[in-house]
Amino acid sequence: MKELILEMEKYAALHNVPIIEKDSITFIMKYIKTHNIKNILEIGSAIGYSTILMASVAQDVMVTTIERDEARYMECLKNVKKCGFEQKINVVFQDALDVNLNNVSYDMIFIDAAKGQYTKFFEKFKYFLNDGGVIISDNLKFHGHVGKSSEIESKNLRSLVAKLEDYITFLKDNKEFETEFYDVGDGLSVSVKKDEKK
Ligand code: SAH
Ligand code: MG
Repeated sequence: MKELILEMEKYAALHNVPIIEKDSITFIMKYIKTHNIKNILEIGSAIGYSTILMASVAQDVMVTTIERDEARYMECLKNVKKCGFEQKINVVFQDALDVNLNNVSYDMIFIDAAKGQYTKFFEKFKYFLNDGGVIISDNLKFHGHVGKSSEIESKNLRSLVAKLEDYITFLKDNKEFETEFYDVGDGLSVSVKKDEKK
């Protein structure tokens, strides 16, 4: 397991796969443990690095993860097999915005896919959260660009960073969820669904 993780880190560096930062996955793994999280939905598997680490927290943690890039999906499947997690991890090869979920619900949703679509992911998948469930989002700092979108020269990057800034505002203003922002790794948010009965 440890060796596979190191192997994946090397693969990611070599092939420019943007895997989660160490501090961030450590934070998320602790959160899974202390909040007794069992069922996780991940948007953006890449090669399965964060997927496998989240699934490794406890024997009964199950992860469904969605990836739209075929080469990464194949690599993810391979890695899931290598660590023997086929029963714990379900890898879905599809665009998350096209996925149809039925009769499933999750304790945690981890959003780590296209940065311009975070609000869409949030609005689509929030219906599949259990009571007290949480949505965690990665890369809210986007390598220090967030908060400075107007200074960015490249139009594509500027538009993407502006969308992340809008997402942060959306989270802050959201009445259904209470969001905390953490200056960990590339920036994380933790949005807990409020109890409607209160
Ligand atoms: N969670 C991974 C890293 C994911 S990188 C880790 O930390 O190890 C983001 C991935 O999201 C990329 O592989 C990209 O192909 C995928 N992605 C982007 N938009 C997507 C979408 N709409 N549906 C599914 N996958 C998407
Ligand atoms: Mg990320």
